[in-house]
Parts: sequence; structure tokens; C-alpha cells
Amino acid sequence: MTKSLTTTNHDRDIAGLKYVYPVISRRAGGLSIGINFNPNNACNWRCIYCQVPNLQAGNAPALDFALLEQELGFFLDYVKNGDFFEQFNVEINHRVIKDIAISGNGEPSSVKDFDKAIQLIGEIATAADVLPSSNFVLISNGSLLHQASSQAGLMALARYNGELWFKLDSATEAGRKLINNTGQSQQKLIEHLKIATGLCNTKLQTCMLHFQQAWSDSEKQAYLDLLKELREKEINLQQIMLYSIARQSFQPEAIELVRMEPAEMDAFAADIKALGYDVSVSY
Ligand code: SF4
Repeated sequence: MTKSLTTTNHDRDIAGLKYVYPVISRRAGGLSIGINFNPNNACNWRCIYCQVPNLQAGNAPALDFALLEQELGFFLDYVKNGDFFEQFNVEINHRVIKDIAISGNGEPSSVKDFDKAIQLIGEIATAADVLPSSNFVLISNGSLLHQASSQAGLMALARYNGELWFKLDSATEAGRKLINNTGQSQQKLIEHLKIATGLCNTKLQTCMLHFQQAWSDSEKQAYLDLLKELREKEINLQQIMLYSIARQSFQPEAIELVRMEPAEMDAFAADIKALGYDVSVSY
């Protein structure tokens, strides 16, 4: 039976591979080739909107570099030279590789030898002629950027003209505790943003939703104040990307989460734009 890959089907097992999975991305307007370093569903954060099933606290397991190389090489060849798009019934206007996105079922930079993994992906995708024409993206919560291998990973990403999407769902310590279940201090957040922006192109990725005091007026003001502070400190972000929850959370808070309405997101985007930032909104 032919399987269909659509913007609503995000089954990471659809290609039957351990580390590589295809997603037809509404945001990107085509095929996003995901790389998952966390097949154990382990993360050092627990975001209330997280869509990872059976999420557990922890790090990525040791990476099988040979298998990653084999899977990615095979899959890129299958998409570029095989009948992947036909087999998975992908709409004609989505038959293009938009990006390679390191986005796991957990924090990707927690994998041992993270930098070598980024380098390997860059090499394989370049050899397959997918980079530099497609984007190379790392989606991370940025919490491990004090580590040498995380920093070296960002340097490798920069060598391939890649970019970091740095998760920031609240500009306050209380907000990050509520939304991400992390005790990340404000000082550490700013230090990590400084490290990130100094090493590679960095965008903020911010999930907006309603849950208790999340995204109250004071939370919004704190976010705008932080953006001003980052400017003053010459911590330069390429873009602010706002989005709201599109799919079911697997966390206990799921039932209480409320999507933010487009009008409220647009109004906040306008406030960010007024500060001189480039901003995108995905509803
Ligand atoms: S950082 Fe990502 S994987 Fe980790 S809990 Fe948050 S949403 Fe889930």
C-alpha cells in the first residue's frame, strides 16, 4: 500500500530508519529531512507542549556513526534519484528538499561527539549535492552551549552555512520553569545566546500558547525587554520565529494548553518588528 506523506503526517518511523526521517513541512513548503539523535526519547527539558511520546529525562545515547552515514547517504539518494516522492504520494508542489533539520526526540546537542556528527551530516549532504542549495538547520534548546562539543558543533554548522534555531519560550526564569520545566537562569540564557550568535547564524524559535500565566502581558513585555537588551549587548539574532501549537502534546498538561489566536500573535509580531527585528509567524 502506498503511504502518504502530508503536512499533517509527522510519523518519524515512516521511512523505517533509525536516525533519518522525512517530514513534509508546511512551514518550509517542501521536504524537510529530519535527523534524530535521540531515538531513546530523552531530553534534558520537559516542555509542556512536547510531542515526543514517552519523553524521559536524559541525554541522547551514543551515536552509531556508520549507521547514520549509511542511512543519510541512502535516503538522500532515494529522494534525489529514486521514486521517494511517488512512493509516499507527496504533492507535486512539495517535491523539493527544503532543509536538513537536526531535530530529535530530545535535545540533539546532548549526543556524544556532537560536533563530529554535524560535520558528518554536512559532508554527506554536500557530496549528495543537497547542501548548500537546501538549508541546514539545528533545532536546539541551547542549554548545553557551555560545552566544548556543542560550541564545536555550531562552528561545524557555520562551515556549512547552517543556522541554529534557539528555543526561547519565555524571557523570564518563572516562565521557563512553567513552560520548559528548566531552571535555566537569566544570566545563563544570555551567555548562551551570546555564544550561539558568536559562532553561527541564530534565530529564536518561540512557541506561543496560553497556559496559566504563560504569555501574560507581563511575559510579553519581558520578552520585548530581553530583545532590547540583546540589541544593546550586540547579541545579534537573524530572526524571531513565532509559532503556536499545531499538534497534540504528549505531556500531562496537554488538555490545558490553548493555541494562541493568529490576531494575538500578529499583534505581538508587530511589537517585535517595531524593535527592528525580522519576525516570522507560523499559526
Ligand atoms: S526541548 Fe524539545 S524535545 Fe526537549 S522537551 Fe522541549 S520540545 Fe521536547
